Amino acid sequence: MKSVDAHLADILATVRPLAPLELELERALGTTLAEEVTSPLPLPPFDNSAMDGYAVRAADIAEVPVTLPVIDDVAAGSDELRAVGPGHAVRIMTGAPVPAGADTVVPVEWTNGGTASVTIECTAGPGNAIRRAGEDVQAGETVLKPGTVIGPAQLGIIAGVGRRRVWARPRPRVVVLATGAELVEPGLPLGPGQIWDSNSFTLTAAVRQAGAEGFRADTVGDDPAAFLDQLDAQLVRADAVITSGGVSMGAYEPVKEALAPLGTVRFEKVAMQPGMPQGFGVVGEDQVPIFALPGNPVSSYVSFMLFVRPALRRMCGLPTGLPETETAHVVGALRSPEGKRSFVRGVLSSDGTVSPVRGQGSHQLAALASANALIVVAEDVTEVPSGAAVEVIRL
Ligand code: AMP
Ligand code: MG
Repeated sequence: MKSVDAHLADILATVRPLAPLELELERALGTTLAEEVTSPLPLPPFDNSAMDGYAVRAADIAEVPVTLPVIDDVAAGSDELRAVGPGHAVRIMTGAPVPAGADTVVPVEWTNGGTASVTIECTAGPGNAIRRAGEDVQAGETVLKPGTVIGPAQLGIIAGVGRRRVWARPRPRVVVLATGAELVEPGLPLGPGQIWDSNSFTLTAAVRQAGAEGFRADTVGDDPAAFLDQLDAQLVRADAVITSGGVSMGAYEPVKEALAPLGTVRFEKVAMQPGMPQGFGVVGEDQVPIFALPGNPVSSYVSFMLFVRPALRRMCGLPTGLPETETAHVVGALRSPEGKRSFVRGVLSSDGTVSPVRGQGSHQLAALASANALIVVAEDVTEVPSGAAVEVIRL
């Protein structure tokens, strides 16, 4: 059997970062920056007031209280400014340019708020409540480096340096295609022997949570030809495909039967529990990566976390590898099969303990939904005593 590490290494050796595109800012959230973003101007571009108040000469308010005539009003966006001469004050709003002559701003709270003249109660030294040009960014300075994930604040600074478009690696478009003759769309009645399809919902959601775009395709039955038709139709919009089901050792395994003969997708046993049968390879002219995951709901989700998520990060141009783990202390003893890495569903508490949930079968989706972590038990460990330190992956 192939190890989990070897399977992930094969996947990461095949999957490539997506080529950067020039994206409108509106479409750039969650993408990975592929250029260095610099500012053409200093930010702020000009000295401006940090408060609503009065722009004056500090020397004129050395002794307070003092009453000064108000010669002008400057709002944010004002461009016609009268200079502040000795003994004068200008009423100024937050973000408005500081007029020539003034060297300090007195907040309105320190005055009587007058409009024709103002009485200032507290003194302020030079530079008070003035935001200097270039205080945030100098002209030509780098504000974001390539490889940065564009979140709300990063989008803000790209706009803040005047850019409308940016070079970034787009979110991978991932098609999720569930197979199984027994599957029924949730919301429709079940016939004998049928179950509602849950994997395509879980996997599409997991794709979206991983920062990619998930498309849930219509499920197909256990007919390899129908599966290939659906795959063909979906490939046009896919940077990657995830299938569920139809990869085990039984009969009626449409994914395996359809893809194995192509020679570009390998079906292997990976030494893990849950999730042993795994298929991975490339399909179509564009060599689109395809992850053929097992159908059991817990197996497919664990497989996603271990293999697909790191691959999606690689496609985004981000550092990648097995999911990060943290140490916790297990409540109760654990058993694990020899030679397989197991991923036991558990509830991780804030006190640093993790309790396995009841129902560790790979079909027990409700138990998975009650868990928030996977306890990782190494291949060579078969028994973990209660209280032992274990590594856990947060879900
Ligand atoms: P398979 O890998 O196709 O042999 O499926 C293994 C088990 O997972 C079977 O019990 C299937 O009924 C179940 N299963 C397969 N696909 C899904 C799905 N999309 N949603 C829920 N259960 C599924
Ligand atoms: Mg099946």
